[in-house]
Amino acid sequence: MFLTLQPIGASAATAEVSERELRETIDRLVGFGTRHTLSDTKSETRGIGAARRYGAARFAEFSKSCGGCLVVEAPSSMMTSPRVPVPAEIVDVLAIQRGTSDPDRVVIISAHIDSRNSDVMDNSGDAPGANDDGSGSAAVIEAARVLSRQKFPATIVYALLSGEEQGLLGGKLLAETAKTKSWRVEAVLNNDIVGNSGGSSGTRDDRTVRVFSEGTKATETPEQAGRRRYNGGEVDSPARNLSRFIAGLEGKSGLRVEQVYRTDRFGRGGDQVPMLAAGFPSVRITERQENYDRQHQNVRTENGRKFGDTVDGVDFPYLAKVTRLNIAALAALAGAPAPPSGVIVEGAVTPDTKLSWKPVAGAKSYRVWWRPTTAATWTTSRDVPGDTTSIVLPGIDIDTWFFGVSAVSADGLSSPVVYPGPAGAFFAEPAAPTG
Ligand SMILES: [Zn+2]
Repeated sequence: MFLTLQPIGASAATAEVSERELRETIDRLVGFGTRHTLSDTKSETRGIGAARRYGAARFAEFSKSCGGCLVVEAPSSMMTSPRVPVPAEIVDVLAIQRGTSDPDRVVIISAHIDSRNSDVMDNSGDAPGANDDGSGSAAVIEAARVLSRQKFPATIVYALLSGEEQGLLGGKLLAETAKTKSWRVEAVLNNDIVGNSGGSSGTRDDRTVRVFSEGTKATETPEQAGRRRYNGGEVDSPARNLSRFIAGLEGKSGLRVEQVYRTDRFGRGGDQVPMLAAGFPSVRITERQENYDRQHQNVRTENGRKFGDTVDGVDFPYLAKVTRLNIAALAALAGAPAPPSGVIVEGAVTPDTKLSWKPVAGAKSYRVWWRPTTAATWTTSRDVPGDTTSIVLPGIDIDTWFFGVSAVSADGLSSPVVYPGPAGAFFAEPAAPTG
């Protein structure tokens, strides 16, 4: 197929998503037998090493088609955990698509390429991991295939992580890598278990995807937490406003986005957690209906009941929709200006509210938002010209509403909304001078 390097727009990009590509990727990943983090790394046909090299080869193939637009890297670290008793080399595979005008700002799509079966320490038995997380890995690879044909102001990183099942190690390594490279990480879309539509409950749902986001920042200081507890902001972390941003794109994927105001499913985890711990706005994207007979189970049949994470449990039209949502979100985030920094709200003991922020490169205008404090999403907005960085909202008092601001490009692409102060800031900001 002839590949065009012309900008094709977010809608055209989502139309490029191929169920056949997604299926081929998962078939290949399952074909490595096991992708357990401590499995064979040398074999070309079995184990985590072969799987990682396959991922890197796919990225390299896409890069060849776009004139070298993807830089493929494999950061690694020797790590231990309760599930890695002897130090083991954890390797992530990254494809980096450098932004044209704002390359230090980074949006990331991630998934874990490692798999497991019933015994998390079994490093040799079959662990097909078709859905957990072959589905997310296929979405990452497909996003790279489709979006590498376009150019964006910000950098996009496509990340295949290892060691998730052994203690979120690949996510930790990604966080360290991002810090080492001084990336200003705007968003992490962590896709983990995104291809199954038939749940353990017996319910089938191929129309809904869940987006999980933390409410308050893992990184806030006790002093910041105190102020946030008093003035509000417990539902306005950058991850939460990233979740609202993604929900605003649901029309581009054919899916309903069910936002869940939690870091992850109850008591469970994923690679977005170490990214959040490093201060990077991150969400977990997961199917609506999980099938527990297919997760973390040896492939077997007991009394006619089938267990195991095999490819027949993946609903490819559904996975294609989830992939489209991711691609729409990556294109919208990387194409829009950065979310504003230094957002301040003032107006106590006055009838008006004043919002101010630092200028954002590439912003043609700004959009100021507010909502009742009990509303789950933003309800009202007003546009402000791009040469101003503050606004007074007459007659709208600071006490009764929550406020935010986003940056908008000349072609109308908007950043996520930023809630004022440390509770809502997307990027780490230098501490204010004291005294
Ligand atoms: Zn998983």
